[in-house]
Amino acid sequence: MGDVVLTAPASGNPDRPHPNPSPEGEGLTVGGVLSAASHPLASVSDTPRLDAELLMAHALAVPREEVLLQRLDEPAPEAFDSLLARRLAHEPVAYITGRRAFWTIELEVGPGALVPRPDSETLIEAALAHFGSASPARILDLGTGPGTLLLAALSEWPDASGVGVDASEAALALGRRNAERLGFAGRAEFRLGDWTSGLAGRFDLILCNPPYVEAGAELPRDVAEWEPPEALFAGPDGLDDYRRLAPSLAPFLAPGGAACIELGAGQFDAVASLFRHAGFTIRAYKDLSGRDRCLIATR
Ligand code: GLN
Repeated sequence: MGDVVLTAPASGNPDRPHPNPSPEGEGLTVGGVLSAASHPLASVSDTPRLDAELLMAHALAVPREEVLLQRLDEPAPEAFDSLLARRLAHEPVAYITGRRAFWTIELEVGPGALVPRPDSETLIEAALAHFGSASPARILDLGTGPGTLLLAALSEWPDASGVGVDASEAALALGRRNAERLGFAGRAEFRLGDWTSGLAGRFDLILCNPPYVEAGAELPRDVAEWEPPEALFAGPDGLDDYRRLAPSLAPFLAPGGAACIELGAGQFDAVASLFRHAGFTIRAYKDLSGRDRCLIATR
């Protein structure tokens, strides 16, 4: 990876391909580097061009839109090369930039907390569908990570408040900083905990993205080598945490409320049966690829 250098001056070698030499002829432009970086990135990422743009935005400390609309003809910043090298070593873009967009908010993220995934936005959609024009007053997010689902929900319902629980102090520290930066600190409380143990009160909306990957499953290297295993793996069949959650949620769900729980591919039937057994009525809510991604449990 050390030999992938895209931003060094090109003066030494007139044969070196440079798609967009800068006006001064001193090296590649931002646009040229973005094109050139997409090729090596394709070996580690399904979204090489997007990754390059996000890393470039980070290197220039400007929003991605500004890179694309205003910066393409500038000389590329040297800082880009080391960011690219990190991505080529499979580090997730979100850990490199320290930021990830989720729903309508942007979250600070980092090692020790799962990077928010677009799939989890399905839980917010499901909750919106459940409440319609009403608003949940109290929201609980179990396994909140950097505050992902709780803060997205608080952005949607300005009169709501809630609690984010996580077993990782690193995740909670991110959650608290995110709440502060988004202006939700007065409505969001973060507490260290093992699912519902030690919790009190009832919640209109319970959100939860538990670990659900089968132990030993092969994951992409950027997930397997960088993200916290305790946020991913849940026993031989991936259902261990659902087995603990299903019988423990009932006392915390307010009348008329809903628990929206994320599911892994193919897990709907098994998890629905666990929650039915615990006295809940179950519905499924599909993600954008048509998978049953969210289980909606009501009473
Ligand atoms: N969907 C995640 C993945 O990338 C898993 C998240 C989880 O276990 N909750 O594998």
